Amino acid sequence: DTTRFDVLIVGAGAAGMMCALTAAQRGRSVLLLEHAPKLAEKIRISGGGRCNFTNLHAKPDNYLSQNPHFCRSALARFTPQHFIDMLDRHGIGYHEKTLGQLFCNDGSEAIIAMLRSECDTAGVRWCMPCSVEKIERSDAFYVTASRGRFRAAALVIATGGMSIPKIGATPFGYKVAEQFGIPMTRLKPGLVPLSFHPEEWAMYAGLSGASVEAVVSFGKRSFRENLLFTHRGLSGPAILQISSYWEAGKPLSIDLLPDHDVREIFLQQRGSKMLLSNFLAQYLPKRLAEIVATQWLENKPLNQYAEKELKALADKLKAWQVTPTGTLGYSKAEVTCGGVDTHALSSRTMECNEVPGLYFIGEVMDVTGQLGGYNFQWAWSSAYAAGQAV
Ligand code: FAD
Repeated sequence: DTTRFDVLIVGAGAAGMMCALTAAQRGRSVLLLEHAPKLAEKIRISGGGRCNFTNLHAKPDNYLSQNPHFCRSALARFTPQHFIDMLDRHGIGYHEKTLGQLFCNDGSEAIIAMLRSECDTAGVRWCMPCSVEKIERSDAFYVTASRGRFRAAALVIATGGMSIPKIGATPFGYKVAEQFGIPMTRLKPGLVPLSFHPEEWAMYAGLSGASVEAVVSFGKRSFRENLLFTHRGLSGPAILQISSYWEAGKPLSIDLLPDHDVREIFLQQRGSKMLLSNFLAQYLPKRLAEIVATQWLENKPLNQYAEKELKALADKLKAWQVTPTGTLGYSKAEVTCGGVDTHALSSRTMECNEVPGLYFIGEVMDVTGQLGGYNFQWAWSSAYAAGQAV
């Protein structure tokens, strides 16, 4: 009593549903297997409930991967405009926030409903909630699940990454890769707040909630966005962005005054009798100015500092070196960096080179987008590529 399909897809998230509807529209019989009782929770909570579903400027440079060109083909064949066309067909409104980020006017539910209805219209079958117990391969793939046994020539793994286990993330996809001998790259939480040693951070703990526009750099990467102080460390978009590039144990460099030549300002104001904290408060949030003036130095009128001291302070404000002790982990990470090694996959179809019929799509692969709608765009593009091929 094995039910036959053309395509079995495990994981009915962003990538799984997009792949299912694409394949079903081509006349393939498709079964989506999903273990969570509620559909697409990650889409629902994304973008603060409004789903930043794409970025108009998505290009390979917005993605981290050990194989940086891998994403090019799929992104070129299913572009942000293709997804926007689908929204338009469903009458779903959206708006651009900043930097090409598109959000739903009426919340993420509209996207889930759209994908679900496209799947239903195309005849996709659902097995949900249902857990996959075993995968075997002989003349085809045989999947034994809690609600039946299924056979198909194509098996697509769309189970996503490790972030937010409490809404259903599992390492299932990585285990399938292991079972079939597909290599993996190292996993780590990405787009995640960074933490510091509590004793070292104690002097900044009072800044919790303060934010400043800064340039945060690691190696050749830098991001100019908001930086947020928290009681445990640093967060905000600038930090989330750099966290995906940061390597444990190494320092980040932070320019707290990106619009100013601070050495020049100090040089001009050296003779001033203004207290350093008041002086800095013209450029920085008051609480931060206070901490810098009292913790980095002794707070005095500007004219009482040696030129050398002011130069050193200027340099520190422009390139503050901080070494996080770690991240807040998968429970707070928006994505998982690393995954199924794309060298083992076809960039046109997402099929495994050595295991014909087995596909990996979405976040489970070693393709990780920056913050700003790039991760969903990868889910749509990689899913479309596989959906066209199965
Ligand atoms: P998912 O959407 O995670 O789908 C995987 C599916 O597989 C899930 O339904 C899961 O339940 C299911 N599954 C897992 N294990 C099993 C198993 N063993 N058996 C059966 N099913 C299984 N990206 C953006 O581009 N814009 C945003 O605004 C944005 N906001 C985010 C906000 C938060 C809080 C988080 C955590 C992430 C956000 N992301 C955002 C990232 C984005 O949600 C993911 O990159 C994207 O959902 C990945 O799509 P996917 O289909 O690969 O995985």
